[in-house]
Amino acid sequence: MGRVSLFGGVSEIGGNKILLEDKDTRLLLDFGMSISTRSKYFSDPYVSPRRKESLLELGIIPRIPGIYSWETKASVDAIILSHAHLDHYGYLSMLNRGIPVHCGETTRVIMGAITETRRSAMETDYRGITYKTFRSGSKIRVGSISITPVHVDHSIPGAYGLILETSDGRMVYTGDLRAHGRAASLTADFVKAASSDSTDLLLNEATNMVGGIVSSEEEVSGKLLKVIERAPGLVMASFSTMDTDRLLSFYNASRDSGRTLVLSLRQAFFLTKLSKEKSLGLPDLDDESIAVYRREKKRFEHWEEDVSSHATVLSSSDLARSQKRYVLAASLSDMEGMIGVKPEGGSVYVLSSSEPFNEEMELDMQRLIGWLDYYGLPLYHIHVSGHIMPQELRELVTSINAEKTVPIHTEHPELFAKFSGLGSERVKVPNVAEPIEIR
Ligand SMILES: [Zn+2]
Repeated sequence: MGRVSLFGGVSEIGGNKILLEDKDTRLLLDFGMSISTRSKYFSDPYVSPRRKESLLELGIIPRIPGIYSWETKASVDAIILSHAHLDHYGYLSMLNRGIPVHCGETTRVIMGAITETRRSAMETDYRGITYKTFRSGSKIRVGSISITPVHVDHSIPGAYGLILETSDGRMVYTGDLRAHGRAASLTADFVKAASSDSTDLLLNEATNMVGGIVSSEEEVSGKLLKVIERAPGLVMASFSTMDTDRLLSFYNASRDSGRTLVLSLRQAFFLTKLSKEKSLGLPDLDDESIAVYRREKKRFEHWEEDVSSHATVLSSSDLARSQKRYVLAASLSDMEGMIGVKPEGGSVYVLSSSEPFNEEMELDMQRLIGWLDYYGLPLYHIHVSGHIMPQELRELVTSINAEKTVPIHTEHPELFAKFSGLGSERVKVPNVAEPIEIR
């Protein structure tokens, strides 16, 4: 009998860890970090977990026999990784290296860059993983299950939804997706492929079920240009390293206003890897509107030296001297370093990521505001979510029209039956580790 059990992403945003069992075949779909559960007990860098036993004991990683690196025999045939966001890949670090990880080509590139730039603590050591890559529409056979990944648009390139045929029925897993990014047509392709046959079970992300905004990445791009053009001083901005859509929006707005976009060393390193993927349309690191900020420190990692040797490198004093020529990527952790730059009057800060949605982020936000007040910088919030909006979500589940839909990656799965319009007989509200039959 085919069934799925959810060990994360249940009544929480992210942390997806899905076990799919069909006859003798066992698959894991994503194995992400439940950031909210983890932050109940831990706060980096000083209160970090040091023992795998504590992660198991606290339920941060599930007790599934035969999946972890310290066990000799693997009980799972393969892992399918939908995309390279921490809440989907995070605890691959702990898994048995004998289990292959299937993912998109771009996801593999990103995982490689993460592996190279992260210090390998217990939770963040991704060395030794065997990746097998796919493209949209590939057919992968693992035991009795056939998997068709189809590309979707999300706030990271290389994201996929999955169509899975088991001996017991057809299942669709959306991963994370949206319909308002630059590549919205990718999501349309997925919905079309997922809707073409009858589906028994749909696992659907519902992050933005209860509230939406009408916007798009294009609109974000336009707003950035407006703010950057008018600023007589330095523009500082925080945005996700791996959100290449947003990187492109910042690049376009910087170039169109005659400025240079100044990246962190880590962002620049990711750019060198991702700009090789021509379909993403990213500039190269040696583009004349791109530079890299190298803040003063004693020791540089090998990859940091490598990036520095291939880019236009700027120091704090370079930035301080001609502030209105730059848009500088700077997050909370960079604020202390700005003492050396001394943003002049008219400088602004653009927050281009989601609003804080938990206590930890709220505290960081307060600290960021503390720094902005100190430097006298107004805060502009310019962002659009990586997740599908309520009306498009409703259209998506209506189109796929599964016998049974399970809302995941949301804090309010119990509201989904009403909000989606599917009704309670067609919606299954999940519980952690409780198997759900495919048919
Ligand atoms: Zn995601």
